[in-house]
Amino acid sequence: MRIAMIGTGYVGLVSGVCFSDFGHEIVCVDKLTAKVETLRAGGVPIYEPGLDEMLRRNVEAGRLSFTTDLAEAVKGAQAVFIAVGTPTRRGDGHADLTYVYAAARELADVIDPGTVVVTKSTVPVGTNREVARVIAERLAETGRDCPFEVASNPEFLREGAAIEDFMRPDRVVCGVDSEAAEQVMRDIYRPLSLREAPVMITSLESAEIIKYAANAFLATKITFINEIADLCEKVGGDVKAVAKGIGMDGRIGPKFLHAGPGYGGSCFPKDTSALARIGQDHSVPMRIVETVIDVNDRRKRRMVDKVLDLLGGKANGKKIAVLGVTFKPETDDMRDSPSLTIVPALVGGGAQVAVTDPEGRKEGEALLPGVTWEADAYAAAEGADAVLLLTEWNQFRALDLKRLKAGMRGDGFADLRNVYDPADVTEAGFRYVSIGRADAE
Ligand code: NAD
Repeated sequence: MRIAMIGTGYVGLVSGVCFSDFGHEIVCVDKLTAKVETLRAGGVPIYEPGLDEMLRRNVEAGRLSFTTDLAEAVKGAQAVFIAVGTPTRRGDGHADLTYVYAAARELADVIDPGTVVVTKSTVPVGTNREVARVIAERLAETGRDCPFEVASNPEFLREGAAIEDFMRPDRVVCGVDSEAAEQVMRDIYRPLSLREAPVMITSLESAEIIKYAANAFLATKITFINEIADLCEKVGGDVKAVAKGIGMDGRIGPKFLHAGPGYGGSCFPKDTSALARIGQDHSVPMRIVETVIDVNDRRKRRMVDKVLDLLGGKANGKKIAVLGVTFKPETDDMRDSPSLTIVPALVGGGAQVAVTDPEGRKEGEALLPGVTWEADAYAAAEGADAVLLLTEWNQFRALDLKRLKAGMRGDGFADLRNVYDPADVTEAGFRYVSIGRADAE
């Protein structure tokens, strides 16, 4: 099957590469010439484990190519996926659909008759019908006769485990409005049936809502355990034990119950915000989601106080080693990372901040002015008053704590991911704070 993928970001590129691995013929298109040149030269513009090898294999097999030319990409394609960004619109919290509608309009001039235009980007309910309207409007303007279908195929992959998630999804959701579109979607995902991944066919609206509801639910779960962590700190509980105790209940499940500095990343903040706005627009307030957003925003700011407490109340003149700045391990993505709230507050308070992150520097340098970048945790901690563990990269999970402490001026250790056992860190000579563990304070 020939498929075109518009957008070679985290989702478009992973989807394109994985579809080609299914055996489909894929052309990925992006407006950014530099990105396409990198891809054509065999490079991968993002950090995603395993992606470079799979990309190379499929390019060599002649199933995967890259272009900036939309007409060339969609020629002969049975399906065209829109996987462009839908960031938060400045000022009002809505999803910004400019890129989606621009792509739809451009498609009207170049698709072949019968093409299924599939929206993979996360979009508010009603967007797929609007995509159909935009294409039809442009076709009417140009007088071009080109019947087409639309489909909604939201993506659930996680950065850092994107290939595994795409190849072994819990489910594939396809929102359709016609049998022809359903058939094309089933054909695209047929190779996954060998892995028994369920393909769920729904209406366009249900598919659109499923994506936001899933992300909002996960963000709620994280925020819930974060509040329970606060209670644990106050009254003498251990949030790790509490999370384990509730997670063993099959109705609750153990995932997304890790207390931390507040959720971040390219999806949860923008998707919770968009869902809250969608609810307001339809006079169905999403009050739980609105509260989750508020609690999470406050939490990131409160994390700064936690670090300041460890430093005796002020950052001025102190040196802090920050371990990890990406929003989670195994990605270079910095979008809405908690570090973008916490680190600037410390720098602004007069602290000297030394940062280390296995993949975050490329994006992070521009986003975190005034910090120095170090090769590893030991170099960052040299002469520091405190260590602040923000992202639980494997590189920071088994540090030689005595060696780390030996190079430092002070003895603070703020572990905002609960990576370490308080007893081990204390034994190495640190004053240790973590999340939701009374013995930590
Ligand atoms: P991204 O910003 O990394 O990539 C978007 C790409 O689209 C960019 O390379 C951009 O140049 C390109 N682009 C924009 N307009 C174009 C056009 N008209 N023609 C060609 N290329 C164009 O975005 P992303 O993180 O891949 O997210 C894409 C969508 O997928 C979003 O709606 C997001 O919410 C959703 N999503 C993301 C994730 C994730 O983990 N990143 C997971 C699930 C869903």
